[in-house]
Amino acid sequence: MKPIGVFGGTFDPIHYGHLRSAFEMLQALDFEQVRFIPCGDPPHRGVTYATAVQRLRLVELAINGQNGFIADDCELKRDGLSYTVDTLESLRAEFPDRSLGLIVGMDAFLGLPEWHRWDEILDIAHIVVAHRPGWKAPDIGALGNLISDYGTHRVEDLHTTVAGRVHIHAVTQLEIASTEIRELVAAGRDPRFLMPDAVRDEILDNEIYKGD
Ligand code: ATP
Repeated sequence: MKPIGVFGGTFDPIHYGHLRSAFEMLQALDFEQVRFIPCGDPPHRGVTYATAVQRLRLVELAINGQNGFIADDCELKRDGLSYTVDTLESLRAEFPDRSLGLIVGMDAFLGLPEWHRWDEILDIAHIVVAHRPGWKAPDIGALGNLISDYGTHRVEDLHTTVAGRVHIHAVTQLEIASTEIRELVAAGRDPRFLMPDAVRDEILDNEIYKGD
């Protein structure tokens, strides 16, 4: 059975940077699926701009029709703060024998040591890091050690074991950030071509991000 990719984020809003990275992971790593998991109540940021329900809806519109892409609302259903380690534990309970690959951008990876129970993540899943513009893989510190102890260049390792490896994978670099999209929409400009049209239409029709 092929691995399941787990792609969490605020997705406030989802854009082509997220979608293209996830798609390249799905194909290049030969994953069965990538689950997009918008966070409900983000501990690291404290505030989102669109509501969790709106962000989930935007994800659903963005991935509609793409085989292997799944919108997973598990973090919206859970009470309290959204911790990735809890999400991985619940997926592990649901898929006991399956390889799980937590997909993170390099910027998110660099913040990993601040995550709740971060040192338990590799017991539950692999970590797959998407190279993002401007970010360099760490070679010192806790993350440098993590890469030297658990890093692998071999995609097969993500298939033959269910957890425990760190794989850094180059993806086409699209310098798009949700923050810039929110600012653009708030300034009355059109976010077309940064995201699928269905996402752009939903944002404009419902005046999401207008007041930011
Ligand atoms: P913000 O600008 O609000 O911080 P963001 O665009 O970075 O948002 P998030 O929802 O915070 O989006 O990111 C979710 C995940 O997607 C993270 O792992 C992040 O590293 C990754 N990611 C974000 N933007 C890109 C991009 N342009 N290319 C590849 N990965 C990305």
